[in-house]
Amino acid sequence: MPYVGRFAPSPTGPLHFGSLVAAAASWFDARSRGGQWLVRIDDVDTPRCVAGAAEHILDTLQAFGFSWDAAPVWQSRRTEAYRAAFDQLRSTGHAFACACTRKDLADARLAPDGSAMYPGTCRHGLPAGRSAHAWRVRAGNALLSFDDGIQGRQQESMADDVGDFVILRADGLFAYQLAAAVDDAQAGVTDVVRGADLLASTARQIHLLDLLELPRPHYAHVPVALSAAGEKLSKQTLARAIDEATPSAALHAALDFLGQHPPPELAVAPLSEVHAWGFAHWRMDAVPRMTGRPAPAAFAAQ
Ligand code: GLU
Repeated sequence: MPYVGRFAPSPTGPLHFGSLVAAAASWFDARSRGGQWLVRIDDVDTPRCVAGAAEHILDTLQAFGFSWDAAPVWQSRRTEAYRAAFDQLRSTGHAFACACTRKDLADARLAPDGSAMYPGTCRHGLPAGRSAHAWRVRAGNALLSFDDGIQGRQQESMADDVGDFVILRADGLFAYQLAAAVDDAQAGVTDVVRGADLLASTARQIHLLDLLELPRPHYAHVPVALSAAGEKLSKQTLARAIDEATPSAALHAALDFLGQHPPPELAVAPLSEVHAWGFAHWRMDAVPRMTGRPAPAAFAAQ
């Protein structure tokens, strides 16, 4: 099957070292295997998006020499596709309306990833006098397992580790899990290479794909870049924006972070040489099997 990879940044700010690592891993895995590479702008959660961030990210990707094979897909323009998937889940009885507010769920048991486990209050119908707030998909009792290309075999019990989860939010937006699953399948993505912070989302996405009778891609979750304080680099942890003026140095650092051991002189070589080296030497099995590791100090905090 022809390889189709993708990078799916959320436009909440400029690219930082952690997002460069995810982009580089999917890019080198795709291109070293003769595959296609796509870009998707994950702006389904519109309240979190920052004006101009998506265009800035696309410019940065270009400055790094990453080229995509089809026009970028914007989640904010795909509501109809999500609506169709939602209608399918609803008409097949897999989705149910939920009246619970955050307050109602305040005492819920926490799932291993820290999210509230839905106690099942509205699973068999809305309580009298309450109206729909959000829509959830039934988790069922499946034991979902998949072989992660880096982290190894993963297994999650939908009933004990995940619970019924939101697919249509109280604010009327479709949830990221539904959008990502539908988008990956409809774009023909065969290989999802992304940060390990999304490992806990994977079972939810596979569950949706199974219910929608869509194919499951292969998944590989690369270590997340951490600040000196051990937090994931993000806008909240004031991660430094990637410096486009020295792309070879940053891409070299990303390859090194990914366990590829690029020769030191590549950090000051022309960008095309860094790419050529990556295409020839990229090995997924060299990526450290860990969910997080410290970013080099020069790329961490502001
Ligand atoms: N948009 C998500 C993020 O930036 C990544 C989604 C994905 O790769 O599936 O964290």
